[in-house]
Amino acid sequence: MQAFDYHRPSSLAAAVALRAGAADGTYLAGGMTLLPTLKQRLAAPSDVIDLGGLPDLSGITESSGALTIGAMTRHAAVAESDVVLKAIPALARLASLIGDAQVRNRGTIGGSLANSDPAADYPAAAIALGATIVTDRRSIAADDYFKDLFVTALEPGELIRQVSFPIPNRAAYRKFPNPASRYAVVGVFVADVGGQVRVGVTGAGPCAFRATTLEQALAAKLDPSAIGGVAIDHSRFNSDLHASAEYRGALVRAMAKRAVADLLAQG
Ligand SMILES: Cc1cc2nc3c(=O)[nH]c(=O)nc-3n(C[C@H](O)[C@H](O)[C@H](O)COP(=O)(O)OP(=O)(O)OC[C@H]3O[C@@H](n4cnc5c(N)ncnc54)[C@H](O)[C@@H]3O)c2cc1C
Repeated sequence: MQAFDYHRPSSLAAAVALRAGAADGTYLAGGMTLLPTLKQRLAAPSDVIDLGGLPDLSGITESSGALTIGAMTRHAAVAESDVVLKAIPALARLASLIGDAQVRNRGTIGGSLANSDPAADYPAAAIALGATIVTDRRSIAADDYFKDLFVTALEPGELIRQVSFPIPNRAAYRKFPNPASRYAVVGVFVADVGGQVRVGVTGAGPCAFRATTLEQALAAKLDPSAIGGVAIDHSRFNSDLHASAEYRGALVRAMAKRAVADLLAQG
């Protein structure tokens, strides 16, 4: 691992200033992606700015019909939070399905969204719920946030502070996990937000996206049977040793059907 300067600022302003002044700096959250990346020499930053000394970045609150989760909040905290379990149980369930116990106790929601792994779980929920990603400089709608493979709307040095999720009437998440890592080969989050059904898909393409054809079918008939006849365009889906693009297309349909059935079972 190449030598770098390590910083542990105690204020958000100091973290942003350190990043702005570094030749090639990077933020450190739980290190679940960053540390393996450094060990494999895939990144060689000049400065690592640890966000662990910023308690204001952690925490979960509910107000005015929205659930707000600080960027440094660990997956385990989301999975076990009474506030999340009451407001958006599907989000708590999603967090409980991430990786293993170690990953859930180190990994953070901000790190997950900043990294935007094509197989990460949170992006499906952010898209389906119409979340807002709040940074040190602006608010970004989830619909405008995920751009491409590991590419987001974040600008260099932009720091995610929190994520705000509108509380849906009902929501459900289903994923087909990679048996080794538990990352989503495909994951589908379905949400009824203010009477509008939104569908977020992860794992299938280079980044999470809204499945508008499924949304249209479900707007006509909110039932798993409505999904059967929808054509899933898999022409730009990922194809790797875990699943072909065509198989991922079949998984989108299967996971969406199961998520809709779960949603309807909530009454
Ligand atoms: C074995 C294993 C299994 C996993 N399985 C799953 C899974 O099933 N589902 C899933 O969704 N994920 C999975 N993950 C990913 C994991 O859940 C973490 O969310 C992810 O690795 C990011 O980790 P982190 O939060 O520790 O961020 P870090 O690794 O510390 O940082 C990741 C990147 O985000 C940047 N960053 C971090 N915080 C911020 C911020 N607040 N603002 C701006 N940039 C920031 C960093 O600079 C870095 O570039 C797995 C990871 C591992 C190692």
